[in-house]
This record gives sequence, structure tokens and C-alpha cells, in this order.
Amino acid sequence: MRTRVALVFPDIYDIGMSNLGLAILYDLINQRQDALAERCYSPWTDMEAAMRGAGIPLYSLESKHPLADFDIIAFSLPYETLYTNLLNALDLAQVPLFTSERDRSHPLIIAGGHATYNPEPIHAFVDAFVIGEGEEVIQEIIDAHQAWQESGAARAELLSALARVWGVYVPSLYQDEYFPDGTFAGIRKLDEDAPLPVLKRIVAKLPPPTTNFVVPYIDTVHNRIPVEIMRGCTRGCRFCHAGMITRPVRERTVQEIVEAIDTAVQKTGYEEVGLLSLSSSDYTDILELVTTISERFKGKNLSVSLPSLRIESFSVDLMDALKDARRGGFTLAPEAATERMREIINKPVSTGQLLETARAIYSRGWSTIKLYFMIGHPAETLEDVQAIADLCRAVLAEGRKVAGRRAQVHAGVSTFVPKPHTPFQWVPCDSVEQILEKQALLKKALRGDGLKLTWNSPEDALLEAWLSRGDRRLAEVVYRAWEGGAKFDAWKEHSRFDVWMQAFAAVGLDPGFYTHRERPIDEIFPWEHISTSVRKKFLTEDYLWSLQGRTRVDCRERCFACGILPTFADLRRVNPGNVWQCPEVKTKKIPVKEVIQI
Ligand code: SF4
Repeated sequence: MRTRVALVFPDIYDIGMSNLGLAILYDLINQRQDALAERCYSPWTDMEAAMRGAGIPLYSLESKHPLADFDIIAFSLPYETLYTNLLNALDLAQVPLFTSERDRSHPLIIAGGHATYNPEPIHAFVDAFVIGEGEEVIQEIIDAHQAWQESGAARAELLSALARVWGVYVPSLYQDEYFPDGTFAGIRKLDEDAPLPVLKRIVAKLPPPTTNFVVPYIDTVHNRIPVEIMRGCTRGCRFCHAGMITRPVRERTVQEIVEAIDTAVQKTGYEEVGLLSLSSSDYTDILELVTTISERFKGKNLSVSLPSLRIESFSVDLMDALKDARRGGFTLAPEAATERMREIINKPVSTGQLLETARAIYSRGWSTIKLYFMIGHPAETLEDVQAIADLCRAVLAEGRKVAGRRAQVHAGVSTFVPKPHTPFQWVPCDSVEQILEKQALLKKALRGDGLKLTWNSPEDALLEAWLSRGDRRLAEVVYRAWEGGAKFDAWKEHSRFDVWMQAFAAVGLDPGFYTHRERPIDEIFPWEHISTSVRKKFLTEDYLWSLQGRTRVDCRERCFACGILPTFADLRRVNPGNVWQCPEVKTKKIPVKEVIQI
């Protein structure tokens, strides 16, 4: 086999096995005659201790080969709190942690996923980042690796070749610079052929859904067939990282989705299908899709889950179509409880509409509604937080009217973390004290029969916040935190806030610089050389609009010229019609790389 790829999800198997991105890459690579992919997950701490004790390096699940024997180790990083686990996996695999310490004898270390849209805090450990969608670029990376292997050239040649692949960022080919006050001044190319900015990769048309899944023997977080029905979101929620970075919206057809489910059911025996996207009820033909699936699989014990529903696009007809697949609770995500806050975050649904939807859900037999909110949005007051409790009680009251005492409301309240590449990339986070005050208010106000509240710790939110908007200097903090014992940072029982604070102190950086500082509107950000193709001008305007409470409609109703179309005009032109939800392009052809703009 010419190229052996280890696909690593740096958390435990139970979580990683439900990651659709890794399953897609596993299938695509294994379809090649000249390459193979195997899987690897982080061992839990007891297993890790046993492996270290016995001198067993981290190995792949399929063939039990040490990871260091693979040609490419590819990490999936959907969230930032996996960074220390990436270091831990490399260390356990006995691969040098720093890219500068690796030579021809070591595997190529690559990483992709939503957290890599600001790759700087882990730039020192990863040879090349995949920015954007992986289906096509993974093949080009394997091709480039094979050509390099045959050439016998030095490792630097491979990195330089990878930097020329659309969607690949090789951090060692760039140098960061700072102003005397510590703010970021920009990035300089060290190799004149390296792109600047680095444009994210997209597929012009979604390929048919993967139907080859490895079925686990144990319960994992999702035991179901995951089918991505569309990619991207046109709603423009200002806090939403995924919504900004995954534009444009591209949809699969009802026919190809249903055929894929048919095949996957036969191959796997799963009894549930998840129709996945950032906003599944916004899929153009959602009713037709759910109805077709219900009819096709009638009597075959297949339930359908729609994990992400918009309150305003979730119709009574859709509820009726889903009724037979009823399981557990129903989830809605208003994110904020006052109309003022929902205007600031650009999720302008009315309270009346929310209550009407809740009533309709309860009256169709569901007994529990889960409501997701965030605290810490820009310009939030304690009245806005109190309104969360009031809204939960109002929803419960609707439930009680139709379902009596069976009705329940579960409120999940997380803390807002400003993300790069979003209109809120300028705003400061709440302090620990502010978060605790808001949580205390909710804990008091949401006591009572039929109500349940869950929340996350302020420290967890701050860790995510440092890493999300960090620069290259944070790599040393990440390294020292890992050295001090930080790992499994996404797990409550492994939270090591003290270790992170010590790491910041040892490096001489102030964590508040990354989280609690309102950034001037003209600040240069350490992630600006990574282009999502949504222009900074658009994000700036949207941020300023939020301060005035101005909202935008769904951009399928009106294009706001965010930057996607000029950048990808040629891809849109060759994919006319409803495959994309952006307007059609009829002007002269412009090559993609000539119109990259930040
Ligand atoms: S180009 Fe227009 S329609 Fe397309 S994502 Fe941007 S704002 Fe929306």
C-alpha cells in the first residue's frame, strides 16, 4: 500500500465514532486502490497509563500498527478543547510534538475541522492544516505525498508542495508579527509561493452521502445513520461560527438522500437516521423528504431525527410527519429570551411564535421540550437572563394546558464564546464573576416541578475562549498546559483550570488579553490570513448593525453580498439552479484564486 493514513479523533471512541467527517474520509480513502485509512481514538486515562507502563505506543484500531508507522496522521478537530489531546496522542504515538523536530522518517501530521479555522494556537505541532471541506483535498494531499515519496526530496519539499494545494495551510511557511502593545500586526510569508490569504476549500456540489459505516459493538453518543442533507446556513446568527464558515448553502436532492438511507439501512441495520445540517428544517424540501422516508420505510422500525430545527421554519405539517418517529424530548434553540437580545444576535423569532410552536409540540404528544439558551451575549443585562427563566415557565405553562403534569421543560444554558470569523469576533467575554451571577439567578428562578436546568462551568467557557481567538504565542501555553497534565479538557472531571493559569503565567501572557478586551474595530486578527471568503467588511458591518439592534433576513430572501459569490463565482456558474442557495451568477468567468478577499 503506497499511502497509509491514520484518522485520529483525539477523544474516546464513544464520542469519536459518531463523527461524520471522519467516517466520510475513512470511506473515501479506503475506496482508493493505493491508500488505506485506519482509525484511532484517545485511550481513556487508565488505558493510557497501562500503555505507557508497558511501553506500548498509540496504535490504530484495525491493524494495531503503531501510529508512527503510518505515512499520514490526520486529526479531526471540531472544537478547541481537543488541542491538548492532540499533543497527548502525538506523545503517546512517540512522534515528535513539534513540526520543527520532524524529518523524512516521521509521518506527516495534518489536522482539519471547524477549530482549525484559527489554527494559530496549535501551529507549532501540525505540519499542514486543511481549511474547509475535506472530500477532495484529502485526495490531493495523498497524491502530493506519493509524488514526494517517489522524489526522495527533503520534508521541506513536501510542505512546500502541500502549501500549493487549495485549502491547505502550512504554518511553518509564515512568520507572525506584533505591535509593541502585544496586538497582532500581521503575518509574513517565508516562502514566496505560499498563498496569502489561504482560501478555504469547498466542494462545488455535495457528493452522494457516505453509506459505508463501521458499526460499533458498543453504545456511542449517536447510534444512527448520519446523513448530511445540506451544508451551510443562510440565517446569519451572529454568534454562530459554523454558520459563517460553512457558506454557501448546498443541498442534496430528496432522491439521493432516500437512496443513501436505503443502502445504509441494509448495510448497517441501524434503526435511526439523523437528517443532519446546521438547520435541518430550512432544507427546501424537508416535508417531502420526511414524508418520503416515512412511506418508504413504513413498518421497518426506522425512526427519523432532525437534530437542528428552526422555530420559524418548523411547521405543524412537519411535526405531524415526525410524529411516528417520536422519541424523548423535542429540542428548540431560541438562544436568547428577549426579543431585544434576539435582534442583537440576529435570531429574530417572536416570543409568541415560540409559545405557539411549543403548544403545537406538546399537543402532538411530546412531553418534554429542551430549550437551548446562551448567557453572555453582547449587551446582555440581568433582565435578559431573568427572561430565560420566565420564558421556560411560559413554555411549561403551555405544556401543562395540553399535557398536564407530564409536561417538562429542560433548559440548557451555555456561556457564549466569541468566535473568530463571526460578526462577534470583536466582543469581550463575560468574566467568571458575571457568569456566576447569571447562573445563580437562573438556578434560583428555575426551581420547581417540571423544570430542569443544565449549565457549563465558567472556566470551561474561558478555556474555549482563549483558544478560539488566540495567536501563535498560545502554542507555548498549550504545550505547557499539556506538560502540566491538562488533557480531556472537554471533560468536566478533567478540568485543570489551575494548570492553564500556571501555563499562562509561565509564558508571561495575560489570559484576559484574549478574552476580556473589547477589540477596536480596526484590529488585525491573527486568523485573518485564513479566508472563509466571508469578507471582513461584511462582518464589521454586521457587528455594527448588531449594536443598533438591526437584523438581516435569511439571505436566501436577499443576498447581502457577504463575499461568497465573487470568490466562488465560477463554481456557482457551473452548478446552476437550486444546488446552491446563493443567487445564480451569469457574469464573465473569474478564476477562484484571483478574487480572494478578506
Ligand atoms: S453570497 Fe449572498 S446568498 Fe450567498 S451566503 Fe453570502 S449573503 Fe448569503
